Parts: sequence; C-alpha cells; structure tokens
Amino acid sequence: MAKYGDDNYKEAAFIAHDLIETILEKTKNASDATIDQIIDKAKLKNGIDLDEVAILLQAHTPEQMTKIYNLAAEIKQSIYGNRVVLFAPLYVSNFCVNNCTYCGYKQENKFARRKLSEEEIRQEVRILESMGHKRLALEAGEDPVNCDIDYIIDTLRIIYDEATEKSNIRRVNVNIASTTVENFAKLKNANIGTYILFQETYHKPTYKKVHPRSVKGNYEYHLTAFDRAMQAGIDDVGAGVLFGLSDYRFEVLSLMLHNRHLEENYGVGFHTISVPRIKKAEGMDLTDFDHIIDDETFKKIVAILRIAVPYVGIILSTRETQEIRSELLHAGVTQLSAGSCTGVGGYKENEDGVHEVAQFKVSDERSPLEVIKGLIEDGFIPSYCTSCYRSGRTGDRFMALAKSGQIQHVCQPNALMTLKEYALDFGDEALNVQVDAFIEGEIVKIKDDKTKTIVVKGLQDLSNGDRDIFL
Ligand code: SF4
Ligand code: SF4
Repeated sequence: MAKYGDDNYKEAAFIAHDLIETILEKTKNASDATIDQIIDKAKLKNGIDLDEVAILLQAHTPEQMTKIYNLAAEIKQSIYGNRVVLFAPLYVSNFCVNNCTYCGYKQENKFARRKLSEEEIRQEVRILESMGHKRLALEAGEDPVNCDIDYIIDTLRIIYDEATEKSNIRRVNVNIASTTVENFAKLKNANIGTYILFQETYHKPTYKKVHPRSVKGNYEYHLTAFDRAMQAGIDDVGAGVLFGLSDYRFEVLSLMLHNRHLEENYGVGFHTISVPRIKKAEGMDLTDFDHIIDDETFKKIVAILRIAVPYVGIILSTRETQEIRSELLHAGVTQLSAGSCTGVGGYKENEDGVHEVAQFKVSDERSPLEVIKGLIEDGFIPSYCTSCYRSGRTGDRFMALAKSGQIQHVCQPNALMTLKEYALDFGDEALNVQVDAFIEGEIVKIKDDKTKTIVVKGLQDLSNGDRDIFL
C-alpha cells in the first residue's frame, strides 16, 4: 500500500503528456467540414473521441461556436431535462500544510487557523438547513494532524444527525485531500455521497510549480486518489480542474483521459466534473497566472465537456457571477452552489456580519431563495433531489441510467417534488405562487401517465404535510 506522501508512488502514466501534446498539435487546423462531422456524430450522445474533443477545442468562429452551444444545450436537455441541482459548501477547517499558490488557505498566509467544534458544526448545519439546503459539499484544508480522517468522519455523523423532519441534510459530498485506501474505506462507511477532488492542473510541470513545499506537491499521489477511492469501494467520484493554471485544452483532454482510465479499470468514470476558474484570494495576485481564461472560452469549455461526456454532471460554484452562471446553465451545467460561504464558520459569521479569511472570493452572493426565483424565471427546475444515492443508484447503476438518458425520468419528478417541498417550508408567498404556476406547466410535459400520477399525488401529499418524497 502507498504511504502517505510517498514520492515513489507509482507513475500515473495514464495522463500521457506526449500524447496530449501530439493530439493538440495535429488537430490545430481542422476545417469547418471536420467540425461539422464531429458535431453530427456527437448528436448521437455517445460522447466523442480524444482527437475529436481536441478539434472542437480549436473551434472559434461565431458559426462554429453557435453550433457547439446549440448541441450542448440539446444534449443537456435530452439527458437531464431542465432541472438544476442545488447545494452549498460547508468549510469545517482551514488548517493546511500546503502552499497552493492560488489559495487563501495556503500555509504561508498567516492568520488564526481553526476548525469547527461539534457545536459550531451543528450551528452551521442548522443555518444551512434553515436556508432549505439538503445537499452539502464538505470542505477542509489538508492537515493530517489538526484535521485527520476521524475528525471528518465525526463531522459527517454530526451533519446527518442534526436533522428535523423538515430540515435535514440528506447527502454530503466530501472534498478532502487525496488519502489512503484505508481512509477512503472509512469515508465510504460514513455514508458520503460523492468523493470530490480537483486535480487543479493535470500538467505536471505546472502542478509542481503551483504546489511548492507541500504534501500536495506529489502529483502522482494526488492523481491516483480516485484509484484508491474505487479500491475502497467508493464508486461515485467527482473531478475538477482549476481553469487558469495551465492551457485549458491540455486540461480538458486530461480530464477525458482520467475519465477513461477509471472507466477501463473500475467500470465507472466521473459522476461530476467541477469547473472552477481561478479567482482572487488572500496572498495571491491574478497577474501571476498566465492562463486565465475569458468568459467566452469558459463557456466553450463547458459546452465541449457536455458534448464529450454527456452523462457527467457539471458543477459550477458561486465563484462565478449570476450572469455567467445563467449562461452556462444553457451550455451544459447541471449543478449550482447557492448562498455559499467559503470561510470556516462562514454561515454564522455572515449572520453576525463578521468576515474572516475565505478560501476564495464569491461573486454570486444571492440567497438560495433568490437563486431559485431566478432559475424558475429562466425556465429551469431548481432541485434539492438526493434520491439516487439514497436509492442505491450509484456507480455503474447510475451510469447505465445516465448514459441511456433514462435518468431524467426520475430527475424531473424529484425536482418538482423537492421544489414544492422547498416552497412550502422556506419560500415566501411570491415564491409559492410562482412555484405552483411553474409546476402546473411542467407536469403537463411529463409524458408517462404513471409518472405523472405519482408526481401529482406526491405534490398533494407534500401539501398535506408529508416530506422527503422521491422516486
Ligand atoms: Fe490547502 Fe486546499 Fe488551499 Fe491547497 S487548495 S492551500 S490544499 S486548502
Ligand atoms: Fe441527481 Fe439522481 Fe436526483 Fe437526478 S434523480 S437529480 S441524478 S440524485
């Protein structure tokens, strides 16, 4: 078994740098006709090859981009429907032994570090629950002494325990550092949803440069985290790249290779891909980073990911503005964070008007209620659904449904029922009026009569006081 931070850990050869660079070079001058052929092939929703992804990444004319965006929107609609899953991050510890050059929590930044006590965790969870959240992403810096795996396991227990019938967290995804098979097995037993880990950058020289003097600087150990998670029985993993560190084309092709590696070796690839862009944080300057991407390129990346891996969820955080988030939902994003605080104890501090060091700056500061109203206005169904993992639809069982597009037949009903539940418990009068009218219009669109009957009954039961109804 690999030792923690062991520099001799096996070479993660599946991110073949030479191969990626060769493909990027040879696909540089693809014609419009070639791009059109790839778009036609992608309409089948079976994904596309590495070379084809590289060719789409070279697209740039308005005509080419319009075709790509239209296809991404079409694929998203046909696989997931118009639901958008909502969640919030919960930061529990900012102790960190690493020095990631892009992060406000890096060790070099001197500020009073802390991790939440049991009571503080409960307090944060109660605030999140009072906002209507059902799904969290647990976040912590890497520090094997001050924030070990047992602290994380305890935190998970406390979160799930802090529940009432109407206010409860039903799924906790976990975003913590790469660790051992043994520790991943503990996470698995603690009932996590998705294990999320951002590679930050797949480009090894850049990875080394932006992770100086740190445990995280071991590229191979970080890259093979999902292998160890899968070996420990976690079949639900979420990847991510921090766009802005290295060439975005290299990163997208690497994501494809990583996903393929997992599919070939464990039968299941990424459940989600997160697409954070580098943002201003304490102790760093954005001008130090050479690969910052503009909004148009960002939108292109999201759309091409949607086309390349149609069945993988794409997650966008509140790092992005309301305007960009709204645009990217049409390009393929399926999950959004809402009402986020990115500091330890941030939700309580927000209530108290205090602002400590956060991991990065948030751009969309709207409350979940405001986000939900905005989504409905744009024709999306905000969803607090957590049903798949609670119904055993994970790993290959989930992928079979997602790849065939069948998943939307559970996504849509569950989205409508969780939206109704949210409106009843946390909405104001205006939202309840908006939701009832919106749901009426959405029910008409359900083609299967049996499903329609279930949803109508579920909505009635919710109005009569039942909760947590799902397919
Ligand atoms: Fe620590 Fe994570 Fe920030 Fe790196 S990105 S400094 S590991 S909290
Ligand atoms: Fe996610 Fe499954 Fe719910 Fe769809 S049905 S929103 S895939 S948990």
